Amino acid sequence: MKKFELPPLPYAYDALEPHISKEIMTLHHDKHHLAYVNGANAALEKLEKARANNFQGTDTKAIERDLSFHYAGHVLHSIFWPNMKQNGGGTPGGKLAEKINVDFGSLESFKLQFTEVAKTVEGIGWSILCYDPLLDQLMTFGVEKHNLLLGPGTTPILVCDVWEHAYYLQYKNDKASYVNAWWNVVNWDDVTQRFETCSNN
Ligand code: MN
Repeated sequence: MKKFELPPLPYAYDALEPHISKEIMTLHHDKHHLAYVNGANAALEKLEKARANNFQGTDTKAIERDLSFHYAGHVLHSIFWPNMKQNGGGTPGGKLAEKINVDFGSLESFKLQFTEVAKTVEGIGWSILCYDPLLDQLMTFGVEKHNLLLGPGTTPILVCDVWEHAYYLQYKNDKASYVNAWWNVVNWDDVTQRFETCSNN
């Protein structure tokens, strides 16, 4: 059976300082993301064993819940790390900049909406910018946990983790300050590349 693996952080643990501390990045990548990788693999192993036993005595619903949660956690964190970089921020270029203007009115309007989504996610979750192939448009989603309320069929291209483990050690309960600072580390080159790949633009 294939296994998910923890991808290395594409920069040093302190690369995003002062906006995101080395301590947060170390714990977030090495402990939290790893736990999702291990959780997804464990769920797949349980399904493999269940198949061998014809699902006798298997709590399939619980395994599928675990799989959905941990798999989504792994996928979103794997996008989150390269979505950021040292000396990031600024503005997107090229076709993504045009698309944001068409779909949201302006970059500032988009950033306001994305920030509002991040600030208003109930409990733990993510603010996510997705490309929707049905209407050929960009959409935002306020995802709860890792796996609830994301539009199926859409492709995430920019994700902001607003779980407390992403900011609490540095920002305490001030999620708004964390999100505002986070814009300074956004890697727009990575977001643009993801948009061009999934939209064929
Ligand atoms: Mn996280």
